[in-house]
Amino acid sequence: MFSTRFAPSPTGQLHRGHAFSALTAHRAAREAGGRFVLRIEDIDATRCRPRFEAAILEDLAWLGLDWETPVRRQSDHLQDYHAALEGLTARGLTYRCFRTRREIADDIARAPHGAMETWRGEPLSAAEEAARLAKGEAFAWRLSLDAAEQALGGFKTLRFFEEGLGREVQADPTLGGDVVLARKDVGVAYHLAVVVDDALQAISHVIRGIDLFEATHVQRLLQALLDLPTPVYRHHALLSGPDGKRYAKRDRAQTLAELRASGMTPVALRRELGFD
Ligand code: GLU
Repeated sequence: MFSTRFAPSPTGQLHRGHAFSALTAHRAAREAGGRFVLRIEDIDATRCRPRFEAAILEDLAWLGLDWETPVRRQSDHLQDYHAALEGLTARGLTYRCFRTRREIADDIARAPHGAMETWRGEPLSAAEEAARLAKGEAFAWRLSLDAAEQALGGFKTLRFFEEGLGREVQADPTLGGDVVLARKDVGVAYHLAVVVDDALQAISHVIRGIDLFEATHVQRLLQALLDLPTPVYRHHALLSGPDGKRYAKRDRAQTLAELRASGMTPVALRRELGFD
């Protein structure tokens, strides 16, 4: 069954760009006679706030959308993501990385141009790792591209269908480097939670902004490693404002709450965004 989702993070108010994305996914589900799922991606407790979650539900209802209930809130299901992480770790596909963001930035600055996206760390020796753990040093779990490449016999089979292009795309998971899967302050990272949930919620079509196109390459790798199905992807262009710049959370005046307060009706906004 056609199933798609809108998966906002409650780190701020929704703006026109979110409305466009949600309406796009919702319309696709309705046209296909399928499911529309709302997922609250709130695993980053350092940035997510319950008041933004409440605002998301209010904004989407105001916009005229309906969705399946109960809504899946990622922070209620951390054990699902930890199980996935443990599975990868048991197979030697992850390693503890003690390097700080600052140290990694320095590494990249010293490396030849282009290394930015393809940073690979190095697992420490067992003795050094034990010593640093004993000192209580913070670390992140990273996915090892080298180990993943070995486990899968290369990345050649990693393909996904991109409806925006109307063809299959060869995924290049090296784009993301050795991505972080979990860290102390954020127990599980976005890429891992999203592939687990897309599978658990039987999402057949991921419809989202083109800003997440690179993420799809990383997520395709995680699907292969976790033996999860790969949805069809449709990355839509990002909406831009009258000044040609794309809408962002920082543009407060563009939030749906502000538009609503200024007297805009949902019908008018839907029409403006091309959803009559
Ligand atoms: N939670 C992500 C965001 O707010 C979107 C995740 C996704 O659509 O895969 O940008």
